[in-house]
Amino acid sequence: MDPVLSLATFAFGLAFGSFLNVCIYRMPRGLSIVHPRSRCTNCNAFIPFYDNIPVLSWLILRGRCRNCRTRISPRYMVVELVTGLLFLLCYAHFGLTLATLKCCTFGFLVLGLIFTDAETQLLPDKLTLPGIALGVLFSLVVPVNDLVSQLLPGLITVPPTQASWRLLSLLDSVAGMTLGVAFIYGAGVIYLRARGVEGMGFGDVKLMAMVGAFLGMRPTIFTIFSASIAGSLFGLWTLFSVWMKRTQRRISRNHESVQEARRRAWQSASIALRRFPIPFGVFLGGMAMLAVFFGNGILRWYWRWL
Ligand SMILES: [Zn+2]
Repeated sequence: MDPVLSLATFAFGLAFGSFLNVCIYRMPRGLSIVHPRSRCTNCNAFIPFYDNIPVLSWLILRGRCRNCRTRISPRYMVVELVTGLLFLLCYAHFGLTLATLKCCTFGFLVLGLIFTDAETQLLPDKLTLPGIALGVLFSLVVPVNDLVSQLLPGLITVPPTQASWRLLSLLDSVAGMTLGVAFIYGAGVIYLRARGVEGMGFGDVKLMAMVGAFLGMRPTIFTIFSASIAGSLFGLWTLFSVWMKRTQRRISRNHESVQEARRRAWQSASIALRRFPIPFGVFLGGMAMLAVFFGNGILRWYWRWL
């Protein structure tokens, strides 16, 4: 790894993270991401360039607006830092190649979607739809080395030319996209029938179409299954901690018996969980990022035990 290039990649990541913060705030509100310049969301003062330096400005101003001293969310600094580190990780993993460009593009979109979903429960089309197109286009220049490409050469004999890997890669990308859509859409329909509430929206479907287009079939399967497990564990943990808190409160405030308090707290906790849907996009996005670096390795390890 070249130290100068590493530093440049990291700086690029910080700058893109800064832009991502603008997207995360403005996209769900339907505002333009290019105009006007950044303002404080409280006092409306324009933010000068020297207060807009990624990470550093937030630290120097100790997370407050210079003009009105309102708190600025630490999310701004976190997004910048995470994007910087992710770009650096892509470079460390793939070197100075088109694969790094693809990985950074994917990471940029996924991080934007994760943070927007966590804050607003929305997955903006302005990120997912261009993402789907970019994923398919990238498959023509960076091979989506995956299941279809490993199965097809045995089934149909394609001459090993430049065109054939591009075709297989494109097929893989489209197959991954179709799989992602079918799975999340199907799961959404089943969930709606079973519980009468919407568990997954079209945002999740479009997110998985994008993930499938970028990663191909196998990492898409990994993403869906691991995100389902992570999401369920998160749901259980939420349910359990709310239950514990409410049981304690019932015992100390209402002087209920332990058994009675536990029973009633369980009822109200399970109703609360149903009202606050789990931000599934956060888990899908997080696991898709893991899949980029470790997905094939983990699946290979898993299939050895079957
Ligand atoms: Zn202000």
